[in-house]
Formats: sequence, C-alpha cells, structure tokens
Amino acid sequence: MSATFAKETGFVLQEVLNANHNYVQSFGDKSKLALPPARQFAILTCMDARLDPAKYAGLSEGDAHVIRNAGGRASDDAIRSLIISHKLLGTKEWFVIHHTDCGMELFTDDIIRGLLAKSLTTATVDENGWRNVTEEGGSEEANFIPFLTFTNLANSVTEDVKRIKAHPLVNKSIPVYGYIYDVKSGQLIEVPEATEAGKA
Ligand code: ZN
Repeated sequence: MSATFAKETGFVLQEVLNANHNYVQSFGDKSKLALPPARQFAILTCMDARLDPAKYAGLSEGDAHVIRNAGGRASDDAIRSLIISHKLLGTKEWFVIHHTDCGMELFTDDIIRGLLAKSLTTATVDENGWRNVTEEGGSEEANFIPFLTFTNLANSVTEDVKRIKAHPLVNKSIPVYGYIYDVKSGQLIEVPEATEAGKA
C-alpha cells in the first residue's frame, strides 16, 4: 500500500471549491428534490476512496441513503442512521456492501492502538507491518474505540447483516442484502449467507 499526500494542505480546499462552483452552475431542477429518498432504499458501505456508490449502484441525487464508515460496518452509529432512514424517511430495503482489498483487513485493534499510543501522525506500512514514522504526542484514548476490523470478508458482511436484523429497533419487514464489491472489476458479488440472514 502506498499513499501520495499533497505536499501542502489547503491545495485541495481550492480544488473542492472550484468543483463546487461548477456543480452549482448545472444544479438545475435538483432544487426540487424531496427530502425522503425517492427509490426508498439505503446502502451501508465502506469509505474506501475507490468505491463510488452513486456509480456502482446507479444513484442520482435524491435516490437513496448512503451510509459510509471504515469497513461499511454495522456500528452503533450506522444502525442509528438506518433506523432514521426507515422510521422517518421511508426506506424499505437495505444493502450492506463491503469490498475486496479493504484496509480493515490490514490491522487489528491492538495494532492501531499501539500506533496511536505513541504518535498521531500518519503511520507507514511495509513487509514488516505498520510502524510510526515519528513517536511523539500519542494517546491511550484508542483503547476505548472498537475499530471493527475483520479477517474474513464474507463473514464480516454476514455478521453485519445479522447484527442489523437482530436489532430491536429494526423493522423485521426490511430485507437486508449482503454484497462484496470487487475493486478489480467493479462488480457486486452476493454473499448468499448474508442475504439469507437478511430476509424480511
Ligand atoms: Zn474498505
């Protein structure tokens, strides 16, 4: 895994503001969109920069809720959003979509806690694993955060679908579909045991 970082901060800020300026020019009748998602579904997926749910699932503005976090995990906060999505905004079907080559398979709670305890600056990784580039200014606070990493992709999808379905505030009539997005092809691949567990 290699990363290219902007040399200086602030550069991307101007790019985003320029892009937004252009978006506003062609905003058109999107001003008339209703608040509830028109296609009545929600997707829980990973924040990975290679995934664009609007493209891989064919969404336009106003179509669906997309809830994203590291791993696309059914965290308490993701479930909070899903509950609102159905109860107040009318979504009727949900997807849990994890993906191949997910960064959440590359560390454990112990690893990230150890790194953060010694430094807050971006760590580096090579064949010997993760390490801090500098070691100053860390915090033990990470010991109180479950990072929700996983070691088996299909299992993580099934686990999350099961957790959502078992939640007392989730309406049993909502089907939850479990899929893996392949970062090499863009294809959505079903996790049958997850979809089975997610049946309405
Ligand atoms: Zn990911």
